[in-house]
Amino acid sequence: MVLERGEVANSWRRERWDSLRLLTPNWQCRLPGYRYEGPDPDGFMTMSDVVAFVSGFAVATAAPVRTHTAVTSVRQTDEEYQVTTSNGDYRCRSVVLASGACNVQSVPALRQALPPSLECFTALEYRNPDQLPEGGVLVVGASATGVQLADEIHRSGRRVTLSVGEHVRLPRTYRGRDVLWWMDASGIWNQRYDEIDDLTRARRLPSPQLVGTPERTTLDLNVLGTAGVEIVGRLSAVRDGRALFSGGLRNQFALADLKMDRLLDTFDDWARSQTRDADVGPRERFEPTRAPASSRLDCDLRSGEIRSIVWATGFRPDYSWLDVPVVDGKGHLRHEGGVVDAPGLYAIGLPVLRRRKSTFIHGAEDDARDLIDHLAGYLAKSTVRHGISNF
Ligand SMILES: Cc1cc2nc3c(=O)[nH]c(=O)nc-3n(C[C@H](O)[C@H](O)[C@H](O)COP(=O)(O)OP(=O)(O)OC[C@H]3O[C@@H](n4cnc5c(N)ncnc54)[C@H](O)[C@@H]3O)c2cc1C
Repeated sequence: MVLERGEVANSWRRERWDSLRLLTPNWQCRLPGYRYEGPDPDGFMTMSDVVAFVSGFAVATAAPVRTHTAVTSVRQTDEEYQVTTSNGDYRCRSVVLASGACNVQSVPALRQALPPSLECFTALEYRNPDQLPEGGVLVVGASATGVQLADEIHRSGRRVTLSVGEHVRLPRTYRGRDVLWWMDASGIWNQRYDEIDDLTRARRLPSPQLVGTPERTTLDLNVLGTAGVEIVGRLSAVRDGRALFSGGLRNQFALADLKMDRLLDTFDDWARSQTRDADVGPRERFEPTRAPASSRLDCDLRSGEIRSIVWATGFRPDYSWLDVPVVDGKGHLRHEGGVVDAPGLYAIGLPVLRRRKSTFIHGAEDDARDLIDHLAGYLAKSTVRHGISNF
């Protein structure tokens, strides 16, 4: 049984901004036994396309979904779980936590020191620029969400300041192919969680600066800076109504450029070793990120120059309803490749759960197969032990 507090594809219906398109190409939109079959494999789905895609999967699989059923508590009792919902209670031997990795916006604690005159929006609340008051906007965070929102808000005619911390720079296309084609073909997406040196870091890595547009444009800090978005360093503090930005922009840029070049080297090595050089364009390298001649280190938030703040500072899951002691002090679920630290409890849909691609929709395909094997084994064993019939 699948319990859903809203409707099928709820997060895509209710928690995304109006103009969002997937940054993964259509050919990569896959769910187990189900894939995009339309006429534009290299295009990028709008939110209504994603809702149709996920809803189509639910129909095709005849998934037993109970919509408008919010899980308010999951408790362990002996070898069973007691699941309390807004629509009745259930007992079951196994629970898969598929409640998403992006339920809540992570907003830094310094927000409490902001002058009350500023209007604040999280990326989960933001829909379009019309929502914002007239005047300047500070977008905090320059990963996929931050660069996309800074670009859209700037195009609406507002002055945008973009505060940039650690980020992952990627070109949309490389040697004539989508950069995510390279991730797929070179095997990077498939890298397993137990083969990654620093798994904790891989799981916390910011999303890449990518946007899905019909024109297949790159959206990096050079593009935004040229368009007129003011780039400043990481928002490090708010003191006496002033926002203080870190001075380490050049280092941040150099690091992101270095990592991008290393990744492109990996792609080149792969193409050479697989004798694929003839199938792709010539090797490319991109202009380093241009540091502004002098970036501002602070800004008076009471002066009226900035009227609103958009937090694009990342998301985190919400497990406030999970009454099983498997969440650490930082809010992270304790699990080994999705096998949670409590018998019969599993998770799916979390960043780098079992592979690098687990962060994305198509990652569920292989992860589900692996986890179901484990889950079926668990149910078979506990059935034999207790002679109980299946849920
Ligand atoms: C802004 C943004 C852009 C993204 N862009 C891309 C992209 O371009 N390509 C890509 O592949 N991936 C993208 N992702 C990642 C993508 O969202 C995830 O890979 C995918 O949604 C994971 O699916 P899921 O079903 O695990 O989680 P979700 O889609 O988050 O679904 C979780 C569901 O659980 C429900 N739920 C939560 N709590 C409860 C509860 N207590 N009781 C009942 N129901 C509950 C929610 O209503 C929701 O419907 C993006 C994510 C975000 C936030």
